[in-house]
Amino acid sequence: MSREPRPTTWLPNFRRTIAYLRPHLRPLILGLVAAIGVSVFYTFSISSVIPLLKVVFADHETLADWLHRAETQRRLDIVIAADLPDDPDGLVITHVRPESPSAGVLADGDRIVAIRDESPGSYGLMQRFAGLTEQSIQVTIVHLPDNNRREIELHLQPYHWWSGALCRVAALLPSGKDPDSRLNTLAIVMGTLVLITLLGGLCRLANEGLIATAVQSSLHDLRSELAEHVLRLPMQWHGAQPPGDTLGRFATDINKVEVGLTTLFGRAVREPMKAAGVLALTVLIDWRLLIVAALGLPIGLLVMGTFGRLVKRSQKRASESWGRLLDHLSERIAGIRVVKAYGMQAAEGKRFEREGRTLTRAQTHIELVDAATKPALEVLAMLAVSGFVVYGATRVFNQQLEPHLFFAAIVCLGGVFDPVRKLGKVNNRLQAAEVSARRLLELRDVRTEEPAISRTPRPDLPPLAGAIEFRGVSFAYPSHADKLVLDGVDLRVRKGQAIALVGPNGSGKTTLMSLLLRFYEPMRGRILIDGRDITQFSLESLRSQIGLVTQEAVIFADTVRANIAYGANGVLDDEIIRRAAKRAHIDDFIQSLSVVHEGRKTHGYDAFISTRSLSGGQRQRLALARAILRDPPILILDEATSQVDSESERKIQEALEDVTRNRTTFVIAHRYSTIARADVTVVLNEGRIISYGKHAELLETCPFYVKLCETQFATRV
Ligand code: ADP
Repeated sequence: MSREPRPTTWLPNFRRTIAYLRPHLRPLILGLVAAIGVSVFYTFSISSVIPLLKVVFADHETLADWLHRAETQRRLDIVIAADLPDDPDGLVITHVRPESPSAGVLADGDRIVAIRDESPGSYGLMQRFAGLTEQSIQVTIVHLPDNNRREIELHLQPYHWWSGALCRVAALLPSGKDPDSRLNTLAIVMGTLVLITLLGGLCRLANEGLIATAVQSSLHDLRSELAEHVLRLPMQWHGAQPPGDTLGRFATDINKVEVGLTTLFGRAVREPMKAAGVLALTVLIDWRLLIVAALGLPIGLLVMGTFGRLVKRSQKRASESWGRLLDHLSERIAGIRVVKAYGMQAAEGKRFEREGRTLTRAQTHIELVDAATKPALEVLAMLAVSGFVVYGATRVFNQQLEPHLFFAAIVCLGGVFDPVRKLGKVNNRLQAAEVSARRLLELRDVRTEEPAISRTPRPDLPPLAGAIEFRGVSFAYPSHADKLVLDGVDLRVRKGQAIALVGPNGSGKTTLMSLLLRFYEPMRGRILIDGRDITQFSLESLRSQIGLVTQEAVIFADTVRANIAYGANGVLDDEIIRRAAKRAHIDDFIQSLSVVHEGRKTHGYDAFISTRSLSGGQRQRLALARAILRDPPILILDEATSQVDSESERKIQEALEDVTRNRTTFVIAHRYSTIARADVTVVLNEGRIISYGKHAELLETCPFYVKLCETQFATRV
């Protein structure tokens, strides 16, 4: 599935998304079977025009007579004059096909007067012929030139099961020729039509419902797989990829693929089947007419192909523009405080409007092409119909085709054009789906930092026992590959030590910690835990040993309990969660918490919180409780730079003291109290460690540190 498709194949990416339907084959196949029903009932409903025309326009023939005549013509392979008054002298053969088995014994103009010595009149004879199950029959004919009466043996075309059905149907129909009987016949035909429409509708419901079930389930799988995949993608990817673009792929592109799949298995199967059914009917009426109409097909395909290409190009632009728009909007909503404080609402609105224009243009173009598809095909269809009508009329004038059948053929042609017209947009949809499928699979094909299922899984890293060591670690971010953010960092930290990392902004403190978490890999040098290179072990076993409290203290929109228990496996006892909160000095606050969520009041640990509803200090302590609960041997803590009130500050410090005890801790320090408490303070500048030691020693030996203390920690030394 991950194989790159050859660019020459048709819809290469979209076809790969079809693989997601594999686990949902049952509804898919049942849905496709239902499409056969749709086609059959559609053909029936179109064909019902034939008896309808027959009833309304025939002068002498009843519907039953017509059925008998049609069957007699088939069995004897002859043509009998249509709609004549019932003739007591028997039926007149207008034409005997040369290939007919009766060709030798019957000739054009012959009259069949009796069957087994009975003469029930022309329509009575036809009724007998239609009901015959034998392969041959004794009949009396009158040969035309000499009016010779002769007994002959006629060979018949085989009797089929439907021949019997036809006779039974004919027997049910009113046999009178008066207006009342005709109206009754009409009512029967219309009643049948209603029934057929109902059955066809049920088949269509089953078809669309089952296909939708299969498609929606497959998209659910695709969406879920992609969501997990995105979370597994390396930080390097997340750093470079605008989140709006990713969101856009989830929102609009999945939707386009959905439309594509639904169209492919719904309309693209159903409509040709419908067309095929009606075409078969047209062939039965007169196949020559069909050939005339089919001449328009190649041009139609050409038009559809061209329009599909146009849609594809615009869809690409639209999808990309959507991504940019979502990116813009989500960023502005996240930064709403700044937008408002700087009074940028109107200006941002204008920017949004400008960016939106590309999208609008692309979308309008798609709609226009879509809209043009229909009329273009209709004009073509009209051309084909014109040819068909002229040719058909010629055959009617030459008495080669019955007028009511000619009308029926025109209706059939209409019945073919409806599906064809609906097919017109199929290619447009599929081309749009191809663009979107490509964007989705592009995302899926980005390699994750560690495959979820690996053939050779890495071993687990044993728990930290001795020391963490950075050896000659250098690193540059891929986006600025020529700028070393870390340059030959050597650092050894013993188990249980509390390290304070200090340095000006941008000196590489956060990056150093990102490398320990393996968010990125060093360009040069290695990171070892107890002498083992961390790259040789599973990511999970490494990260499970590290607790992370980021500066912004990420809180997810969920309950307090879920936020604290985030990342802890299994169901946790409330008491354990509460103990962690107590150690983070946040239990009191949680107990007093009361939040209205979705019209419901939530309290305490069940209170529904979000980043916005908490202060910086509260967030930090909650994040700390989360880290405490996991009880990791290593803790990385990025202190909040923002001012927290002194009460919060005191609580954080108390919590920290508790948490860092007997734990290897790296604190990116922004407070004097932290460096004062650390076992070792590491001073970083421009990606290099320029000094390290105890606070007091550094004050003696490192002038850079002294200056840092004065500027950053507002500490007079
Ligand atoms: P500190 O934590 O000491 O403030 P950082 O480790 O965050 O410093 O950043 C070090 C340098 O790396 C800075 O110059 C910063 O601009 C750059 N940097 C940080 N993150 C990225 C990133 N994702 N892509 C490119 N450059 C980055």
